[in-house]
Amino acid sequence: MSLAVSGPTSSKSSASTSSSSVSAPSVNLTPGSKGAAVLQLQKALVKLGYMTQAQVNTGPGIFGPRTTAAVKAFQKKHGIQTTGNYGPLTRAALKKALAPKSAAPKKPSSTVKAPTATLKRGAKGSSVLQLQKALVKLGFMTQAQVNTGPGIFGPRTEAAVKSFQAKWHLKADGVYGPKTRAALEKALAGQKPPKTGGTTGGGSTKVTKPPVVWKPSPNFNSRNGMDIDTIVLHHTASNNTAGDLATLRSKAAQVSAHYLIGRDGTIYQLVDDKMRAWHAGKSALHGVPTDVNGRSIGIEITNDGSGHTPFTEAQYKALEKLVPWLAKTYKVPIENILGHKDVAVPKGRKTDPASNFDWTRIRNAVKKVL
Ligand SMILES: [Zn+2]
Repeated sequence: MSLAVSGPTSSKSSASTSSSSVSAPSVNLTPGSKGAAVLQLQKALVKLGYMTQAQVNTGPGIFGPRTTAAVKAFQKKHGIQTTGNYGPLTRAALKKALAPKSAAPKKPSSTVKAPTATLKRGAKGSSVLQLQKALVKLGFMTQAQVNTGPGIFGPRTEAAVKSFQAKWHLKADGVYGPKTRAALEKALAGQKPPKTGGTTGGGSTKVTKPPVVWKPSPNFNSRNGMDIDTIVLHHTASNNTAGDLATLRSKAAQVSAHYLIGRDGTIYQLVDDKMRAWHAGKSALHGVPTDVNGRSIGIEITNDGSGHTPFTEAQYKALEKLVPWLAKTYKVPIENILGHKDVAVPKGRKTDPASNFDWTRIRNAVKKVL
C-alpha cells in the first residue's frame, strides 16, 4: 500500500539541467541544507560527474546523503579533507574544476566510444572500462561508482546497462550486445531515444484509451522534463473504493496516483498523465535510485492487500485495457511495468500489489500490442 507513506519526495523546485549556468555556490553548505544554493552545488557535481541527474531528481535542492557522498568524492579527488561539508576550501576547488581549461578530472569526451565486444556481468578488461566511461558520460552511473571496480562488469554496471536499455526501449536484460551497442553509439553521438516505433516491435495494433471517470486530485507537480518510461501498479490496502478516492484526492494526505481501479472496474483518473503523481515514494528502477514518480504512471487498485481478497474480474478487464494503452502510448518496455514492491527502497518497504495479483494476465495483454 502506498497511501500512508509515499508522499511527494521531491521535485517541487524547477530543476533546470542547463549546464551553462553551472557555478560554485558562494555560501557554505552542510548536510541538511536546502534551497537554491544546494541545487546549484548539485548541478556542479552532476556536471563534473560526481552524481547523476537522476540522483539529483530524488531530492533537488536538498543536501541529503547522496549529495554528501558526492561532495566527499569530490574532496577526495582534490586532496581536501573528506568532511562532506561544502566550505571555503571545497568551494575554491570546485571553482577551479568548473573553470574552462582547468585540469578537470574527466578525460576528454572525444575518447568515449561504445565498445565493440559483447559484454555481460562478470566480464573484465578495457572494453568494460570503455563501457563504464560511456555510461558515466551519459549519466547512467557515476565516476565514483566506476571507481569501486573499474574494468569490472559488476552489479552497478549491470544496473546502469539495464537503465540505459529501458531508456532506449530495449529488452532490459543487462547484457551489452549488438542492439545495446547500436543505441549506445547513437546516444554518444547526441541522439535521443526514439519516441515512436522502437525495437519493441508491433506497431500497427490499434489501441484506444478506455473510458475514465475524472476525479481530479490536487496532489501532483511537474515531471521536470522527465519522459514516461515506467508503469507502477499498487493495491490501496483497502476494499473501499470511495474511501480510496477520498484519500487520493485529499490535500492533507499528500498522495495520489494517475488512475484508481475501483472494485467494480471503473477507471478513475485523478492526475493528468503529463504530470507527476505522488505514489512511489523513495524508489529505484532495476536497482538504480531514480525519481520513479517523475518517470512513471501510477495505478492504484482497490484491494486490501491481504493476499486473500481477490482482485475482481472487472478490475482485470479494466487493467487489460488501460495498461496496454499506456504501454503503447508512452513506449514503456514490458520490463518497466512493475509493482510498487519492485521499485520501493529499501527493499521490503512495500508489498503491493499483493501476491495473489495475476501479473500474467496484464503482461499477456501488453504483449499483444507491443
Ligand atoms: Zn503502493
